[in-house]
Amino acid sequence: MILIPCPNCGPRNSSEFTYEGENKERPNAATVTKAQWRNYLYLKNNPLGWTTETWYHSSGCKKFLVAERHTMTNEIRSTKALGQQGGAS
Ligand SMILES: [Zn+2]
Repeated sequence: MILIPCPNCGPRNSSEFTYEGENKERPNAATVTKAQWRNYLYLKNNPLGWTTETWYHSSGCKKFLVAERHTMTNEIRSTKALGQQGGAS
């Protein structure tokens, strides 16, 4: 079980959330190649260590949040509402 501290609802079981994927920087539409765009859409970095992800609290407040999660331990060190500066943990 992973406890995800939702910025709106507090700590909740990860089963209440939908994983939306890892956050990646969107390529510049004016300069991107087809290969870069394909990589952006379909390839995942899947790092061993800390990664930044988007989750959706589908069984709670129905809002998106950004979480920093360690892929080996599933520890979550911070969360924040999507589009919000700073974070809570
Ligand atoms: Zn929530």
